Amino acid sequence: MQLSSQLPEAEPLLRLQGGDRYAHNWSAVSRRARRICPVCCWCQRAAAVETHHAMYWDEKGAIAGREIPGVHVFPVCEECHTVLHRDHWFSPDDHLARRNTPHAIDRLRAGWGQQAKKRIA
Ligand SMILES: [Zn+2]
Repeated sequence: MQLSSQLPEAEPLLRLQGGDRYAHNWSAVSRRARRICPVCCWCQRAAAVETHHAMYWDEKGAIAGREIPGVHVFPVCEECHTVLHRDHWFSPDDHLARRNTPHAIDRLRAGWGQQAKKRIA
């Protein structure tokens, strides 16, 4: 089932414009994610210089302001960030419903887990 078909009708929160995908705390969340995992969660080689939203919406609504690194957002290198938005993305009909494919989200979470293991070891 497509995520967009699960969205409630006429829910104002889901009609937000692009800027509302980011809350006031985004730069702090992004920095904290890269402090925890300084290596790209996608290629697991390059330094993570950006933090990628694998989704902007979940079953509780918009994610902005309550992002959890390793669940919703992932440190990535610049090159992989481009690939993740270009090749591993679906539901372009509603910008808040847009998210990475399930396969891509699984790979990002696995990458996060691999890097976390290295940091603990
Ligand atoms: Zn990368």
